Amino acid sequence: MSLRFEHETLPQRVRFGAGEAAAALAEEVERLGGRRVMVLAGRPEAEVAARVTAGLPVVHHHDEVVMHVPVPVAERARAAAAEHDADVLVSVGGGSTTGLAKAVALTTGLPVVAVPTTYAGSEATNVWGLTDDGAKTTGVDPRVLPRAVVYDASLLVSLPVDLAVASGLNAMAHCVDSMWAPRTDPIDAALATEGIRALAAGLPRIVEDPTGVAGHEQSLYGAYLAAVAFSSAGSGLHHKICHVLGGRYDLPHAPTHAVVLPHVLALNGPAAPEAERRIAEAFGSDTALDGLQALRSRLDAPRALRDHGLPEDDLDDAAAAVLPAVPPSNPAPVTIDTLRHLLRQAWEGADPR
Ligand code: NAD
Repeated sequence: MSLRFEHETLPQRVRFGAGEAAAALAEEVERLGGRRVMVLAGRPEAEVAARVTAGLPVVHHHDEVVMHVPVPVAERARAAAAEHDADVLVSVGGGSTTGLAKAVALTTGLPVVAVPTTYAGSEATNVWGLTDDGAKTTGVDPRVLPRAVVYDASLLVSLPVDLAVASGLNAMAHCVDSMWAPRTDPIDAALATEGIRALAAGLPRIVEDPTGVAGHEQSLYGAYLAAVAFSSAGSGLHHKICHVLGGRYDLPHAPTHAVVLPHVLALNGPAAPEAERRIAEAFGSDTALDGLQALRSRLDAPRALRDHGLPEDDLDDAAAAVLPAVPPSNPAPVTIDTLRHLLRQAWEGADPR
């Protein structure tokens, strides 16, 4: 990789500390001069949100959270922020909740403090997403980047193990895809390498001890690094494929990433020797794919797209929809046959080795 590059670091405060969310949140809201806080948290996260925001000047708790942020849901949250004259938004939840806070910030300019409860990583990016009649639109805007993120691993111990594994592999996908995404640079690669190492150490500990904080703490650290790398590097082939699968066939976000990743790594690894070397090194394995597959089997990771709602009849349609989105800089050449083969393997749950 050449050492002539441009890199933009996004302005954001990050707080890490297990069991410290309430205290850290109070300080971050105070820094922003918040006097009228709107809390966004879905109903399943309402209790934890009430706990960590108990010391804040809350004017409204908003609990309508829907995956991929449908426009009417965003409109209602924006109306609630205006009605209650909110001056700071606090989101407590996974990528869907962070996404809703971003949608409000996009039109109101209100600052967001994010308290993530999954490994999705949306809190560290300036990317927003909205869906309108099933079609997903994404964009980049500095207003949606949370001003501060409060990471508290104790909030993730309630994640069911299968959800934690899928979400953690979504973060792993941010790392791996960052190695060859269109705007990747040596800083992204360094962050992604450390992210892979942290996730490979943390995720098996979650499976062994789901309610222990240690595995979640390592994984959360890895997920943050992953998101920072991804935000800078942009979407590589892996994210382009998952974007089509999620948007077109309504497949669940994190498991789709978990299934597709080894197939993209099998395709790109041999064509990207520097990425291959770094990923293998981070896993401590002979090859990048060996490392990923060994981790996936320890985690009993999601294996096949057919288990997550993709009809076999749609494979050709999916390949055709991905083809125009393939980044020209992808290390391995990609044709319609490459995509058909990759998607069939992912659909069947074949081992790409
Ligand atoms: P999610 O936010 O929809 O959460 C999945 C499920 O986990 C929900 O049912 C939720 O109630 C539950 N949950 C969350 N935290 C929990 C906890 N600690 N304990 C128990 N249950 C918990 O899913 P996600 O994978 O975090 O986010 C996916 C969304 O985020 C997608 O819409 C995706 O497009 C978006 N996303 C955006 C970006 C970005 O940069 N804009 C990045 C990554 C993901």
